[in-house]
Amino acid sequence: MARKKALLVIDMLNDFVREGAPLEVPETRKIIPNIAKRIEEARKEGIPVIYLCDNHREDDPEFKVWPRHAVKGTKGAEVVEELRPQPGDMVVPKVSYSGFFQTDLDERLKSLEVEELILTGCVTNICVLYTAVDAYMRGYYVDVPEDSVAALNPEDHRFALRQIKEVLKPRR
Ligand code: ZN
Repeated sequence: MARKKALLVIDMLNDFVREGAPLEVPETRKIIPNIAKRIEEARKEGIPVIYLCDNHREDDPEFKVWPRHAVKGTKGAEVVEELRPQPGDMVVPKVSYSGFFQTDLDERLKSLEVEELILTGCVTNICVLYTAVDAYMRGYYVDVPEDSVAALNPEDHRFALRQIKEVLKPRR
């Protein structure tokens, strides 16, 4: 029987995607159509679509390291219009890089009997990479399609993809 999959859409929020956004990752705008296509296919095939979304408190310690972004309740913390969640999709707010840290993502995936995660979104070497690492440690298969993730520069992007491919290989 085929492994049960879930599609993760990571931090495709206004504060990362829009021109002039506080944590703008311009490359995210190029991957929107690719992610949109994957979302549409997943919904059609009954593959769960799970949005992992930064959702910070006003005084989040992360703002000592990064500009203020994705503050709970603000427009910046919302998923971009083009990829808007639909009824039946899941939205998991998160407070750090990994979608597993202080969230119920693992429980949700287990209750859905998901074994493989397809990770899309941004940033390839930050939230995507650390979520992939945490997924791998928990025994999930991870797949990160190159055309659906974005980083701030090509070096970091390539580094993370290589790391995922070589270090987070499926265990047989
Ligand atoms: Zn953040």
